[in-house]
Amino acid sequence: MQAKNIIEVIVDVPTMQTDRPYDYSIPEDLKDLIQPGMRVQVPFGSRNLLGYVISDPKATTDFEGELKDITALLDDEPVLSPEMLALGKQIAAENFCFLVEAYHTMLPNLLKVDYDKYFLPTTSISYREHAQYFSDFNEISWAEAEEKGYLADLIKLKKDNKVSIDYRVEDRKRYKTEKWVQPLMGFDQLEDELQNVRKTAKKQLALVEVLMELDGKKVSAKYFEEFDIHMATLKAGAEKGWLSLFDQPVNRDPYANIVIEKSEKLQLQAQQERAFAAVKTAMDAQKDEVFLLQGVTGSGKTEVYLQLIQEALDKGQEAILLVPEISLTPQMVNRLKGRFGDMVAVLHSQLSTGEHFDEWRKLKNGQAKIAVGARSSIFAPLHNIGLIILDEEHETTYKQSDNPRYHAREVAKWRANKHGCPVILGSATPSLESRARAQNGVYTLLEMPERSNHQALPPVELIDMREEFRHKNYYQFSRKLRDEMQATMDRGEQVALMLNRRGYANFMQCRDCGYTFQCPNCDVSLTYHYHNKQLQCHYCGYNAARPQTCPQCGQTHLREFGTGTEKVEQEINELFPNKTVVRMDMDTTRRKGSHERMLKQIADKKADILLGTQMIAKGLDFPNITLVGIINADTSLYLPDFRAAERTFQLLTQMSGRAGRGDLSGQVLIQTYNPDHYALTLAQHHDYDTFYQTEMRYRKLNQYSPYFYTVRFTVSNFDDHTAMATAAKVAHMLREANVAGTKIIGPAQSTISRVNNQYYYQLLYQHRGNQAIHQVLQAIQDRAQNWSKDKIYVSIDVDPMTFM
Ligand code: ADP
Ligand code: ZN
Repeated sequence: MQAKNIIEVIVDVPTMQTDRPYDYSIPEDLKDLIQPGMRVQVPFGSRNLLGYVISDPKATTDFEGELKDITALLDDEPVLSPEMLALGKQIAAENFCFLVEAYHTMLPNLLKVDYDKYFLPTTSISYREHAQYFSDFNEISWAEAEEKGYLADLIKLKKDNKVSIDYRVEDRKRYKTEKWVQPLMGFDQLEDELQNVRKTAKKQLALVEVLMELDGKKVSAKYFEEFDIHMATLKAGAEKGWLSLFDQPVNRDPYANIVIEKSEKLQLQAQQERAFAAVKTAMDAQKDEVFLLQGVTGSGKTEVYLQLIQEALDKGQEAILLVPEISLTPQMVNRLKGRFGDMVAVLHSQLSTGEHFDEWRKLKNGQAKIAVGARSSIFAPLHNIGLIILDEEHETTYKQSDNPRYHAREVAKWRANKHGCPVILGSATPSLESRARAQNGVYTLLEMPERSNHQALPPVELIDMREEFRHKNYYQFSRKLRDEMQATMDRGEQVALMLNRRGYANFMQCRDCGYTFQCPNCDVSLTYHYHNKQLQCHYCGYNAARPQTCPQCGQTHLREFGTGTEKVEQEINELFPNKTVVRMDMDTTRRKGSHERMLKQIADKKADILLGTQMIAKGLDFPNITLVGIINADTSLYLPDFRAAERTFQLLTQMSGRAGRGDLSGQVLIQTYNPDHYALTLAQHHDYDTFYQTEMRYRKLNQYSPYFYTVRFTVSNFDDHTAMATAAKVAHMLREANVAGTKIIGPAQSTISRVNNQYYYQLLYQHRGNQAIHQVLQAIQDRAQNWSKDKIYVSIDVDPMTFM
């Protein structure tokens, strides 16, 4: 019998024109160590590249030349379980992407590095892990670590003795510290101190107040930054004897410095109890049943999730809770952490690579049992899943818009099937696809029509902005909205305003010749940002200073048109000079933790008005917000997307749900130029069912989802004509295939026809889920691999969620 010393490896080839596994031979010293799901380093051409072992050792190969040896084994245990290896194959096949892309998506960034640059001279287990720790703790890049000889050092240590490396890393860790503050005076003493501080020493006054609130509790110096108190003031405070500063070892727990309130288990109400019992039954039976939990905003869905997660834990199982965008849902995270503490691992994009890896590893080694996070958390490395939840299941962010273009809902169902556990899809406004499946009995519908505080849903009023114009009111605010804002704030309550557009103005135009400022790289207008007087492209990031004169006619009559959050903020300051606004959009929330800080300002009633883009519509629960205003409901209504009405309905319903969540009753004002549109009038009456029926008729008539499936092909090239011609070739292949019941729309220029100097064409292919479709798509994918050699890119998006 031949020795089994060959394995199959999926290699991460940067140019990506191939996706087949390659055979490699296993060197003697790795024979007993290597397993499927481990990462290896392999020679490929003239380089060494990262690869994933996807097979058990085998005895024979089809390869005719001499096999090369694996250069290094990078893990001492598989990073991809057999389940994940299989799931990757499924995702690659269904979404027409490369296997390596699927595997990459499942792993934390720390495990995906440029092996070419950091060639490893020895076969070293987990070396990379150690080295990454090392550079993280030292806050230096790999390149720098290498330059300084640290890495060579590390390798030498590693060769001699594995333990000493860990030891050294631990050592480094101890050196990395952070300044912390120990308050030295109690409340009364500090209150006396207040009298002694000069009234003009604003920072010091603020410091004393924060110390009083802390009531002796130690906190990180970072905690003070949100009050705009920095090191100089803290040092002054130390000199005055209010506090002492000390060094605290840093913990890479992203929630280490956040005070989390305990969240106590609530007595379930009848509608919650019914939903709970149905899911629990499926859990007990280990059934992969899919539930659509349709509960109005504030009906207590989250409490149901929490108690079912507790059930899973009680059974010794694990759970995954997906949220559309984790950084926008700090309250959800707090509720989970507040109930389950360290059992919760949070995965999100604002974590550092080290933090992210730690959270991932906690799940993998069983230290944490609940994974919370956005889309990619569906790949959490859990072993015995008892429940998977997708909150706000209708959100488009659950579908990845780049390769691999998977939908978290589909992956959830796949994993649920493997683990024998139920899936909950939660929403106040389910996607039409999910609701239709519930209607057909594919999913089980659970309804929670009442708010848990028994408050009625807030009354919603549509305000016809055409009337305002007739009355010569040129503000973004109708008279009614202004009056109600004033009245609300007079009562000491708060206001939330949504406008789905950041920046100051949508475009800038010359009033003499009509010239508009366009992005030089993209086919879109530049957006004007007032605070830095810059014109910016929201697609490619191009930036330019606002010119004084028109480049076409030389005149100076340049004007901004349209509105963004920045401009609305300015109007608020003009209309309500004594009120405080918090503006939340992509421009103001780039920094880590900025969401939390802003939301805390609202929670602590330090601000009167929360103004934001649709990021504020998600999951916020502020009892003192009693008025919600939507500045312009029309922005999402006329997007070139067959789901535009559905999106608008969902967004308005969700945003309306932010009003009156506590004991105070709320109201919602929606400003629009289309007060008769069904998406608006039905959102006004909280009438999901009628909306569903109306919209389903429209979808049927136009052969859209959920009646038809859609595949979108996008073709791009730097040459306009080549892109167009290739799109025509794709259309030709689809026509030739001639599958019954299909329809081709296009090719046509994409909505944004040029981005970053690439021309885009798209083509929609509608079908009825016929088996033959997959072969047709595969044939196109194979052709596309050839085209990609000429830098013509064809992407295949199965069931796309957005059309921009
Ligand atoms: P949803 O997720 O459906 O929007 P939440 O779970 O956030 O609703 O609940 C809305 C509010 O009602 C929260 O403040 C929550 O604490 C409260 N709540 C939920 N369930 C109960 C219950 N069984 N008893 C009392 N209050 C509840
Ligand atoms: Zn651009």
